[in-house]
Amino acid sequence: MGSTAKAIMTGFICRLCSEQKKVVIHLYTSRAKKLKLLKKIKLLPISVDKYDNLPKTICEQCVSKLEAQYDLLQKIRRSNSVHRSHRMHHSNGRCPAECPLHGEDESTESEMEVQGTSS
Ligand SMILES: [Zn+2]
Ligand SMILES: [Zn+2]
Repeated sequence: MGSTAKAIMTGFICRLCSEQKKVVIHLYTSRAKKLKLLKKIKLLPISVDKYDNLPKTICEQCVSKLEAQYDLLQKIRRSNSVHRSHRMHHSNGRCPAECPLHGEDESTESEMEVQGTSS
């Protein structure tokens, strides 16, 4: 009798996939802080508040997906700023060798032109 609470405690609902999982990370623990989970979750179209009534746990699968997403966004952001500064400051052949886009301006498009068709 009175064992309903026990049944609920077999797992935790993941905030992101809404599935009940045994292994989860609580968003407000030092481990989550170390993984910057709250920061990474801000990139998603959801908002998490410490005092909302929704689950504060995320399963391991979602954590790794979140990390992959975060890495991708960082990469896009970085390459975007590289492209922007390249276009703004590296024009007229003043692209320094340390620029990741160095040398890429020499496009090979002209090779696509068909020359000497005499038939
Ligand atoms: Zn999940
Ligand atoms: Zn450049």
